[in-house]
Amino acid sequence: MDFEHVKIPEGDLCRVEDGRLSVGDKPVLGVLRGDGIGIDITPVMQKVVDAAVDKAYGGERKISWCPLFAGLEGLRKYGTEFPDETVEAIRHLKIAIKGPFTTPIGEETHVCLNCAHQQNSGGKCESCGLEDSVCPRFRSINVRFRQHLDLYACVRPVRYFEGVPAPNKYAEKVDFVIFRENTEDVYAGYDFERGSEVAQAVIALIKEKTGREIRADSGIGIKPISNFGTTRLVRKAIRWAIDQGLPSVTLVHKGNIMKFTEGSFCKWGYELAEKEFGDETISEKKVWDEFGGEVPEGRILIKDRIADSIFQQIQTRPDEYSVLALPNLNGDYMSDAAIALVGGLGLGPGANMSDDIALFEATHGTAPKYTGKDKVNPGSIILSAVMMLRHMGWNEAADLIDTGVRASIRDAFVTYDLARLMRREGREDVREVSCSGFGNAIIERM
Ligand code: NAD
Repeated sequence: MDFEHVKIPEGDLCRVEDGRLSVGDKPVLGVLRGDGIGIDITPVMQKVVDAAVDKAYGGERKISWCPLFAGLEGLRKYGTEFPDETVEAIRHLKIAIKGPFTTPIGEETHVCLNCAHQQNSGGKCESCGLEDSVCPRFRSINVRFRQHLDLYACVRPVRYFEGVPAPNKYAEKVDFVIFRENTEDVYAGYDFERGSEVAQAVIALIKEKTGREIRADSGIGIKPISNFGTTRLVRKAIRWAIDQGLPSVTLVHKGNIMKFTEGSFCKWGYELAEKEFGDETISEKKVWDEFGGEVPEGRILIKDRIADSIFQQIQTRPDEYSVLALPNLNGDYMSDAAIALVGGLGLGPGANMSDDIALFEATHGTAPKYTGKDKVNPGSIILSAVMMLRHMGWNEAADLIDTGVRASIRDAFVTYDLARLMRREGREDVREVSCSGFGNAIIERM
């Protein structure tokens, strides 16, 4: 494959055959630095991962990092923020990890090419002061990666780290993974303005076919949830539960209100579990009907919960959930609500996945005012790298980083954001470290 700016280093290309990933000892993985604080956090993540892999496998395994470019780096190198060859390279490599990307907010927004600060006019950046560093607007890079690579599952592990001040009394019991559908539901973008041709036609069609009235001055949004979209998401969630040895998968829906979209998500999820994972799973109904409420040894419990009730339950009984599968909108709310339970985004990892591609990511934004200051918390992208290592089956290296992160936080070697929270809770032994200092603290404690 010929690329212009991408240089594939020596190493093994990851392959997916019959749905199974195969990874050599020197896998080539894509790395996209990201905008703003991507310049700070991404190299720290690479250093931590390299150290863990070296320690775990004594030089027998090593990652060949392949730099790829998008966002402001893409603009500088290619003249476009979303280069085709970057998408092609991710397709080719199968696994990549990325920092955050800026999305200009409004029609008139200009973005600083250096620090990703957004302002309403071109010229000198009001944040970092650099000249000639401002460019016109563009659409979300993250959304375009999802669409171009059909990354249909947004995967977000949420768990508590000892020492992090968290608002919830049961925070230490939180340890679950959210699988949010990425391509359907209200986020599919079928949204029509009141009075538009499509909105009027839909209102007329519904009146004609069902006799039901929708107010003529309504905007119309369409919420498609398909069998195809649901089953591939739930399949991924169940496979995750099997691979990671987790006890349950919960289908979250609002089927009491919308039977044929939300309700079908639940129904199709159960059907898929029964059909494809009949030996490995069991439904909650069967557990009660046939096993007196006891889940048989070795089976993963498939249950469902109404969306509003699960928002209570993740706060009151979080330990009853280990994998949650949700349609897009509920998944959106759930991802943010759940991470708030355990103390916020700084330590929230994430990935977007298709059947064969996995793009791991920092889940926070570009925080422009901290760009290049070696100050912010690299925890999110480092924990995403832990997910990536587990995805590759390199659990020994993943465990080492996990241990290092836990120990650094427990010892209160933390960046300014956590330091502030910990001091507010009355801790006096906090040692505030830089972004790279946090990386070093993790490495020392592996
Ligand atoms: P943000 O996450 O950049 O900042 C929100 C707050 O969190 C700020 O106070 C910031 O200083 C702080 N913060 C963020 N990351 C931190 C870290 N690693 N350590 C310590 N503190 C951190 O969100 P925003 O200001 O709403 O968005 C800024 C830009 O980032 C926008 O262009 C937005 O589109 C983009 N964004 C990208 C992603 C992504 O690529 N995944 C996600 C969210 C926002």
